[in-house]
Parts: sequence; C-alpha cells; structure tokens
Amino acid sequence: MSGVSLKGIVKAYGALQVVHGIDLEVQEKEFVVLVGPSGCGKSTTLRMIAGLEEISDGDLTIDGRHVNRVAPKDRDVAMVFQNYALYPHLNVADNIAFGLRIRKESKETIASSVEEVGGILGLTPYLERRPADLSGGQRQRVAMGRAIVRRPKVFLFDEPLSNLDAKLRTQMRAEIKRLHKRLGVTSIYVTHDQVEAMTLADRIVVMHDGRIEQIGSPMELFLNPVNTFVAGFLGSPP
Ligand code: ADP
Ligand code: MG
Repeated sequence: MSGVSLKGIVKAYGALQVVHGIDLEVQEKEFVVLVGPSGCGKSTTLRMIAGLEEISDGDLTIDGRHVNRVAPKDRDVAMVFQNYALYPHLNVADNIAFGLRIRKESKETIASSVEEVGGILGLTPYLERRPADLSGGQRQRVAMGRAIVRRPKVFLFDEPLSNLDAKLRTQMRAEIKRLHKRLGVTSIYVTHDQVEAMTLADRIVVMHDGRIEQIGSPMELFLNPVNTFVAGFLGSPP
C-alpha cells in the first residue's frame, strides 16, 4: 500500500499556526490535487510530507510507515518544484542521474535508467545539453526525469507548471497525466490553478486558511460544493 495518510497534521511557526489539523487519506496510485488560494498552506503541507518542514503535531504515514521523524531521503518520495532546481553545470543525462549516483548505483544501472527515463519524457535528443540550452518545458521534463528515475513510492509536485506559458502548461498537463497513467505512482499535486486541478485530479482537496474545506472528485466538487468558498473557487455558481 503506497498510500499517504495525514492525521491531524499541524504546522506552527512559533506562535503562528498556519496548518490547523489536516486529515487526508491518499490511496495507492491515486492522483490527488491540493488546491486553494495563495497562502492557504498547500506548500507547507506538501513540504511536511516530503520532510522538508518539521511536523508540529499529528501523524504522517507513507506506505504504512510512520515517518514524522524520518529524513527526507529515507521517505521514498520525490518532489518536483516550480523552479526546476536543476544543476546548471551538469548536462541533462547527469542531472537525471544525480540521485542514482548518490545512491551508488552501478554505471550500467544508471546508463539504462537515464536512457529509459529520457525516452519516456522525450529528452533523448537533449541528453548532452546543459539546462541553460533548454526551453522551459524541456527543463521541467528534466526535473520530472530526476524524480522518476529514483522510482519513488510517492510523487510530490509543487506548482510545477506555473513558470510556463499557457500553451506549454496545457501540453505539460497532458504529459503529466499520461505519465501518471503509465507509471501509476501515488501523486500529490499542489496548484492554485482550478483548471489544472479539475483536469488532473482523481480527487481534489480544497484548502482555505490552513484547513480542508472539501475533498471529492472534480465532478462532486463542481456539482455539490459544501459552501460558498468551494463554490466560488471551483464549483458551479451558487
Ligand atoms: P501556499 O503554498 O498555499 O501559497 P504556504 O504553505 O506557502 O501557502 O504558506 C502558508 C502560510 O504559512 C502563509 O501565511 C505563509 O506566509 C506562512 N509561512 C510559510 N512559511 C513560513 C515561515 N518559514 N515562517 C513563517 N510563516 C510561514
Ligand atoms: Mg505554495
């Protein structure tokens, strides 16, 4: 069971609480989108799952394992950020291979993994290039390649497309969907973009001021928003 379970997850920065006790069960292979206005706590929640922020209270399990105090690298998750975070001095192949080198995988394993991931993401012609010589969409593919190649149990995405223009965003959205179908990895995807949420999600989690307002399929939320906030954000007009 490669699911993710959040029980009463709280985040406080000193006296300031920004996530107020989140309960969420993400099923194995599910694609869940956290959506809500800027500042509502989406990134903080994702970063707690990744282990990049300490959890102030509550219980996080990944794949049935309690991980509150497990280091990020031992959580079996991979995160894709909006700013790519590629190594500028390394070419595409070496950027993709980076995590495998750290794990001391064999040369042969690394070469075949890079070739496979390059093929999946359409990066084969660009493996020798540096990030500076790639388009925004290509860079984002490399960032995804770096995540995929590690074969994590869970993918975490934080607004991965928000630096791309509208046309590329639509195209990459379709690619992410295709990738999820193909790899079937449990995914938690953060965005403030309602269209992105509606098109990508198996289930959408609507957040507001550090709380969950509603969880449901895109259709459920659209047709039966529980309150005017959800309705205003992505449901039908009240
Ligand atoms: P979102 O990703 O939904 O835009 P964030 O999770 O980044 O929201 O932020 C949630 C809230 O937590 C915001 O009010 C933000 O200002 C606050 N916050 C985020 N990081 C810190 C920090 N390091 N110290 C204090 N407050 C923070
Ligand atoms: Mg954010």
